Amino acid sequence: MAQRVAVSEVGGGRASKRTSRVRVAVRLRPYMEEQDEKGEGPCVRGLGPQSLEITNWRNATETLQYQFDVFHGEQSTQQEVFLSSVKPILPHLLNGQNASVFAYGPTGAGKTHTMLGSPEQPGVIPRAVREVFHLVREQEREKGDWEYSIGMSYLEIYNEKVLDLLSPGSQDLPIREDKERNILIPGLTYVPLSSFSHFHTHFIPASLNRTTASTKLNQRSSRSHAILLIKVVKSQRGPPHRQLTGKLYLVDLAGSEDNRRTGNQGLRLKESGAINLSLFTLSKVVDCLNAGAGRVPYRDSKLTRLLQDSLGGSAHSVMITNIAPEYKYYFDTFTALNFAAKSKLIVNRPFVRETVSSSAPVKRPSDEQASAAAGEPQ
Ligand code: ADP
Ligand code: MG
Repeated sequence: MAQRVAVSEVGGGRASKRTSRVRVAVRLRPYMEEQDEKGEGPCVRGLGPQSLEITNWRNATETLQYQFDVFHGEQSTQQEVFLSSVKPILPHLLNGQNASVFAYGPTGAGKTHTMLGSPEQPGVIPRAVREVFHLVREQEREKGDWEYSIGMSYLEIYNEKVLDLLSPGSQDLPIREDKERNILIPGLTYVPLSSFSHFHTHFIPASLNRTTASTKLNQRSSRSHAILLIKVVKSQRGPPHRQLTGKLYLVDLAGSEDNRRTGNQGLRLKESGAINLSLFTLSKVVDCLNAGAGRVPYRDSKLTRLLQDSLGGSAHSVMITNIAPEYKYYFDTFTALNFAAKSKLIVNRPFVRETVSSSAPVKRPSDEQASAAAGEPQ
């Protein structure tokens, strides 16, 4: 039996009652031969519905095993990911509560596949919007005393600027907070939606407005955070004419890769700094929420400021961390897993002995970063 040589664990148990934890799912995309020029095979594999293991490059006789709220293996379908990680939070929108789903991970690991998908394999976004329409129609049939309206906005955060994807060419938009602590973006286009197909005709062309540029890692790497907002407004037909609004943010984050390795310079390096600020702040916010500790640093970046009323608090949030199994992603996978993990174990069992050699990667992720992200006890 595998001998445990090191253990660290935190759970959601310490989270305060007022603050919802962020559920963390990890999705491993299938192994792709063309992403593995050296023919080394995969370095990550699933162990069960909540866990996976990855080669420990520091010690070839060990694997690192990680546990999450949910693990979606390489065989998992778009439908399974939606059913287990996203569908359960959607009914809250009809009660005036907020929710957010975001895809995190390095470029090429499957964020856009998970969120947007393709016509043959639609992802979380089309499935969630379809389901919201379904839930609203069902409520309208069952209880006639409330009426509902659904609408969308679509924006991106690029270089710490908030840009309206439904109004291309618009300037950086301000983020404001009202007296009820709702986050607002004055001037952002809002499109009322009459049906799912109506959503489709607005969303698909707008998604092509996204700023993309090539990097060494991926030809169409996404350098910005793409944020789709779906609002459900529920109004009482009779007195006292109460109104409740539920907001759902569906976010395809910029790549989490270490930009020092992707050959970015000049403007690209400036973008990298902005991306890193938002993602670094997001990781701090998620850590704070899940530890139930201290001041949550929402104001430290545009992304977290925007998500402030829909991440933590009474909101329902899910982070889907996308990872790739090939060795060339090893360090970015390792960093992403340490961010996502509830617990980490080092087990003295080699992953695939013959593929771990002295020519293994030489760059060492900082211990501080790894242990902080793994949530080791203070
Ligand atoms: P990212 O948005 O994180 O950069 P993509 O979603 O573009 O990554 O995925 C990279 C490539 O891998 C794409 O060709 C995509 O179709 C494919 N891919 C990603 N995840 C899966 C999956 N679960 N099953 C099949 N193909 C996938
Ligand atoms: Mg993408």
